[in-house]
Amino acid sequence: MTAEPYSLKRHICLITGAGRGIGAEVARVVAAAGASTVINYHTSEREALQLLEDLTARGCQVMAVKADISKSRDVEAMFAGIQAEWGPVDLLVNNAGVSLKRLLTETSEAEWQQVMDTNLKGAFLCSRQALPAMVRNRFGRIVNIASVWGLRGASCEAVYAASKGGLIALTRSLAAEMGPSGICVNAVAPGPVQTDMLNQELDHDEITALAADIPLGRLATPGDVAATCLFLLSPAAGYVNGQVVGLDGGWKV
Ligand code: NAP
Repeated sequence: MTAEPYSLKRHICLITGAGRGIGAEVARVVAAAGASTVINYHTSEREALQLLEDLTARGCQVMAVKADISKSRDVEAMFAGIQAEWGPVDLLVNNAGVSLKRLLTETSEAEWQQVMDTNLKGAFLCSRQALPAMVRNRFGRIVNIASVWGLRGASCEAVYAASKGGLIALTRSLAAEMGPSGICVNAVAPGPVQTDMLNQELDHDEITALAADIPLGRLATPGDVAATCLFLLSPAAGYVNGQVVGLDGGWKV
């Protein structure tokens, strides 16, 4: 074990969807742990540039890159830009995602496609870009942000749950495929986390009722998710592979 089991110094970490929400907190934590940190954003340019400024002012090495991770051309350009500036990404957090609360019978094909393209295809495209250099260097870490819904399913969120279930299967499969190359692939499956995504779906009373149902008596914070990501990316987790870390405060439905 290294003398600094939670240090990410000398690593290059890309976090997708890091302009706000969980991704932004992961970026703060990995940058503080010493990683050269890439903040990917799509529409939240103002927030991403503010985060870039804040972290740079604290002495962290950070860049922000705009890319729609559901588009292969954008993803290729993003990785080429990072490679040209800093070198290969060796820590990847596939965080970007969209939710959809809808009866299945009222879900359009376009909505299905948007959720799948962002939550599942995006992770495929980014992993596909990151893996060749990880294999060459015989080191890499991929953390996929799934959801408890991907494990349990959820009424009125079947498409979202299916995308996260697919992400969990992708995680376990890649862990088996890439383990022999020294690459660990894991997922985090949070329950409800206090971000814009949750606030769009639930009102204040629903959030209070949900918190009361969770043994720890509160929803997760982005910091809870970021701390788990830091562990999975760190030298301390060198033997953790193919796992889905539930992060739900002991909540069971
Ligand atoms: P959020 O606040 O709504 O943020 C979503 C993030 O995804 C934003 O940064 C957004 O970027 C990015 N994104 C969406 N589509 C994108 C695209 N095509 N290309 C690049 N980035 C894209 O949500 P959050 O709660 O932080 O969620 C982060 C992850 O955690 C998601 O995968 C979500 O499914 C998962 N999760 C959330 C919860 C929860 O309760 N909040 C629970 C379990 C799992 P822009 O703003 O720049 O467009």
